[in-house]
Amino acid sequence: MLLRSTLLRSSLCALLFSAAVPAQMLFEEYDPPSTLVVAEHEVTHARYPFVDVHNHQWSMPSDTLADTVAEMDALNMAVMVNLSGRGRGDDAHLAGCLSNAAQNAPSRFLVFTNISFEGIDDPDWGARTADQVEADVRAGAAGLKIYKNLGMSAADAAGFRIPTDDPRIDPVWERCGQLGVPVLIHTGDPAPFWQPWDDQNERWFELKERPNRKRDPSTEPSFEEVMAEQHRVFERHPGTTFISAHMGWMANDLARLGELLDRYPNVHTEIGAVLAELGRQPRTAAAWLTEYQDRVLFGKDSWTPSEYHVYFRVLETEDEYFDYYRKRHGHWKMYGMALPDTPLRKLYYGNALKLFPQIDRSLFPNDGVIE
Ligand SMILES: [Zn+2]
Repeated sequence: MLLRSTLLRSSLCALLFSAAVPAQMLFEEYDPPSTLVVAEHEVTHARYPFVDVHNHQWSMPSDTLADTVAEMDALNMAVMVNLSGRGRGDDAHLAGCLSNAAQNAPSRFLVFTNISFEGIDDPDWGARTADQVEADVRAGAAGLKIYKNLGMSAADAAGFRIPTDDPRIDPVWERCGQLGVPVLIHTGDPAPFWQPWDDQNERWFELKERPNRKRDPSTEPSFEEVMAEQHRVFERHPGTTFISAHMGWMANDLARLGELLDRYPNVHTEIGAVLAELGRQPRTAAAWLTEYQDRVLFGKDSWTPSEYHVYFRVLETEDEYFDYYRKRHGHWKMYGMALPDTPLRKLYYGNALKLFPQIDRSLFPNDGVIE
């Protein structure tokens, strides 16, 4: 009797409970506030003025830039590099970016140019495109940005994918070396985009939100192949400075990225959109960023000023177990790495000043000289 009433009561409880709270929930719904009580240090203003080498300002020609500069000042961003100088491809866009920046915010912006792979089958495409880059640099462009369509979706007239190391592009890489301007190149995507979309995939949530990012290894080149093509370009053009965007998609394997930097002294990298990888390995990341302190630049990619606060907090503080800003990049918590002063300054501005001699030194402590 006793047993029976207990059973009855507990099953009634279960019934009531299940009506209020489902026994199952979606992975993305599980987001409990942390009960951990530890010191917290929000950082809304970077410790040093910094150069963001990976930004996109699509409306730059028509923008007064006043709001953007105010937001940059609040973050302590001294200089922003707009990588999308040619906008969606029209010639007037670059001129508009350059003249607007010169007029409204002198010394606060650098602008990169871009190229199109349309017409790559023409025998003079290489020379013509290198000439376009040269003219753009003479007009004020600070470098060349290559989007990830190269090596992925860009195709020649016959419909064949254009690999990043296509020799037809060699004249462009060479010309950038001769002109002394860096090439910031985004190749590929995170490796999990090629892996089965299942419970073993760390980017499961991103691929749910962005299903078009899934790669099919049975019909498309593999992650390793796509990245090897990029690395062959680095090897073939030692006189050209490359900035491999997003830590070359190797921020989850810093030893491997270190080997790449060791092999190719002409290569730098930047931390845009891969902060979640660093914030989950603060000790390894701090040691690595110290070892490779001359090779890594600050970048962010998307322009949402409040998201920079998480970058500053990961780089500068010793805070533990705090939130990242975009669940689809990493659903785990962040830890601060308290990067030592010299590597921090080099990441924020020292390395950018080396690659971009045109930046106004007076924007930085000690005119940019890091003791
Ligand atoms: Zn970008």
